[in-house]
Amino acid sequence: MQDASLPRPALLGIDLGTTNSLIAVWREGRAELIPNALGDALTPSVVSLDEDDTILVGKAARARLTTHPERTAAAFKRFMGSDRQIQLGSRQFSPEELSALVLGSLRQDAEAFLGQAVTEAVISVPAYFSDEQRKRTLFAAELAGLSVTRLINEPTAAAMAYGLHEQKFERTLIFDLGGGTFDVTVLEYALPLIEVHASTGDNFLGGEDFTAALLQACLKHWQLTPSTIDAQAMASLGDALEQLKCKLGEGAQQLSWRYAEQTFEWELDEAAAVKIWEPLLARLRAPIEQALRDARLKPRDLDSLVLVGGATRMPAVQQMVATLFGRLPYRHLDPDTIVALGAATQAACKARDGAVEELILTDVCPYTLGISTNRGEGVSGAFSPIIERNTVIPTSRVQRYSTTFAQQTEIRIAVYQGERPWVRDNIFIDSFDIQFTPSEQLQSLDVRFSYDINGLLEVDVTLLETGERYGHSIDRSPTGLDEQARRDSHARLATLKVHPRDALPNRTLLARLERAWMQSLGDERARIAEWMDTFNTVLAGQQASEIASHRSALNDALDQMRL
Ligand code: AMP
Repeated sequence: MQDASLPRPALLGIDLGTTNSLIAVWREGRAELIPNALGDALTPSVVSLDEDDTILVGKAARARLTTHPERTAAAFKRFMGSDRQIQLGSRQFSPEELSALVLGSLRQDAEAFLGQAVTEAVISVPAYFSDEQRKRTLFAAELAGLSVTRLINEPTAAAMAYGLHEQKFERTLIFDLGGGTFDVTVLEYALPLIEVHASTGDNFLGGEDFTAALLQACLKHWQLTPSTIDAQAMASLGDALEQLKCKLGEGAQQLSWRYAEQTFEWELDEAAAVKIWEPLLARLRAPIEQALRDARLKPRDLDSLVLVGGATRMPAVQQMVATLFGRLPYRHLDPDTIVALGAATQAACKARDGAVEELILTDVCPYTLGISTNRGEGVSGAFSPIIERNTVIPTSRVQRYSTTFAQQTEIRIAVYQGERPWVRDNIFIDSFDIQFTPSEQLQSLDVRFSYDINGLLEVDVTLLETGERYGHSIDRSPTGLDEQARRDSHARLATLKVHPRDALPNRTLLARLERAWMQSLGDERARIAEWMDTFNTVLAGQQASEIASHRSALNDALDQMRL
């Protein structure tokens, strides 16, 4: 029971994105975005290690991607679930540790905004995130001191936010293209019921790939080899191309890049960009077709089409979607913020709060889960599905198997995810061995998969002859990491100094000025150097109002210079 003397936990939803992250709160009957220390709703998912080994998160860190690429990391969500380590200066971090730093920063913003401690939240993940990626997300939250009341699929979160605004939709396709992931979800509103029929996607396709394709194309145009360019120059070119990509909708763009005493020029318009992006645009089609097929719908059966994720702002993507469906997509809510608002709505729904009390959401498992078996005589490595993709969750499914020879005493259960007939082509999740009493005959065993609403899997095996049960869930730790690795992560983060939140606006401006100095030349550069000196002098004076007015004027000047 809730102790009446304690404040009720805030109902929070977090969109932990590849490029940007957001936190929203449900209060007074609606979801509301929480601003960060700079007053922005979007916090770049970028982490940097300052020269004095202090952690910076967000916009200041993003500016340092250009000036200090070897001490800064972005887009680490793409490596979530892998064993990849990311180097920042002399320290190494796992993707979940970096994600924990982003979550910690959002948590601080929420605490400052709400004036109360924050301990729990609903966190959104790409629908197509695997079991391991989900577990690592939970671990990132644990490292940030947050308990996760639910993991919600990003397009499903968007569907919840839309469900509250638009009562007229019925069958809807949600097209969610973020910085690093792509999800397609087909669902039906029969309010108060929101029923997901199918979810598919690609965990390695997003707006960042469109920028990377431009980078390759312009280096090719200039006949430059990427391996010969130093990290800082490469980062500044990447940054310039990211900005160029976001402005292509306004007309043809010029790029001018200085490197090795030379100026390289490139002009690009939307049509030329579409040519460069053709392979990426083609990759967007397959998940759409699969989601519709699984939901047994044709494009004309859809009542609406909703775009979510920052990368759906690209005219090339909107055009592709409009052509494929023969209609214009519906873009009423902001594609950048809708997932966080939907996650907060889910938090309210779970807490049975106010207007959303009645909403009922059903979601699906977006991929097939099964085990490795022998097919026929001696042909091993066949994939035997237990939960088929797009089964409504939570679900529990059982399949019967048998041992392969008499007197067998051990069997290995190897769990895979995927849509291919041979396990070698699918994603390995985990395996474990079970030992049992030998028998003269072949023995039957039931393998049960239980998939919960957070998208996490448990496996149970029962030996029919003896009734022996191996309630061995595939992975007993919540992360797939062993206890020592988990303790190490906690210890590593505990020793880190994090830049104080209230000093962030000044620190961010200094990082921005440094980047602007690097990106400019001649008189412009001299002017920026002067601004840097002035601002440092004002900072030394410690007069809060003077600092704030200088900061605001300098930020405006940099905005005008588009730096
Ligand atoms: P999200 O993960 O939803 O924040 O989406 C981030 C992605 O959206 C990044 O790859 C951005 O480059 C991309 N993006 C944001 N705004 C625009 C824009 N105006 N034009 C093109 N891409 C954009």
